[in-house]
Amino acid sequence: MKHLEIELSDSQNSMLTARLNREFYKRCSSEIIYHKIDEATTVQELEVIAEQYGFCDIIDLSAFSPYSARKIMRILTRAIYQFPKIVGRVNYVGSYKGYEELLRKMGEGDQECVRSLGLQHILGAENAKALGEFGFELCKELWKDANISLAAFAHLGGCCNGFLFDSTDYQDYAYLDTIAILRKNEQNGFHPKGCNTFESVAYHEIGHILDAICHFTTSEAGKKFLERYSSEEIGSGLSRYALTSPQELVAEAVSEVFSSSAPRKVASEVFAKLCEVYQNN
Ligand SMILES: [Zn+2]
Repeated sequence: MKHLEIELSDSQNSMLTARLNREFYKRCSSEIIYHKIDEATTVQELEVIAEQYGFCDIIDLSAFSPYSARKIMRILTRAIYQFPKIVGRVNYVGSYKGYEELLRKMGEGDQECVRSLGLQHILGAENAKALGEFGFELCKELWKDANISLAAFAHLGGCCNGFLFDSTDYQDYAYLDTIAILRKNEQNGFHPKGCNTFESVAYHEIGHILDAICHFTTSEAGKKFLERYSSEEIGSGLSRYALTSPQELVAEAVSEVFSSSAPRKVASEVFAKLCEVYQNN
């Protein structure tokens, strides 16, 4: 993975830290938001809800049908109400294409994008351009390797992170094909129990976001906690995909807890530990 070094002044750094540590302010119960989501008939109305309540810096659901956009909004609401610190890490919500376009514009020096992200006092014009160019290249690399790309979390240092959904997957027969693959992958143990839906893939990505907030898999304590599980326990007790890295293990555990009505031991324990670190963070 390539890296981008950006020099920030002390005041810019403290603003970035404050931005990363933002928390969702619960002005009302989640039920009220769910109700508004159900009542909304257009994608624009859904975007307004996200903007009004401060779910993220930029939301662009124009690539989705109202049906898919409503699903995305429910996922966001559930995750943010349970983990309000998520809003500090999710800057852009929308399609892969929309995100790529945002980064392309930033790379070309578009200041409007920088302002929409609230980065104008954190990144100077040159830094914003460098970040846009870097992110644009990173996207191309990411999409190339993704097989089922229903959802993804693109981590750009908390300046311009993207919680992304693939709009092409939700159209017509492509959607049915994708669901068939997800069901097969759940049945053969590649993905955890209950994780065979559009939502479960998004919750897997939420797992990566929580990992980033808690610095779970990068901390000694987190690493040590995960080492207690043997490959056998992870492979048969969670999923085979969870064996690929500690990061995927955490994401699969979160996905199972959010998606299954009876999460199993490994998922429940990893999730409980993650919640504990989240609370003390
Ligand atoms: Zn993952």
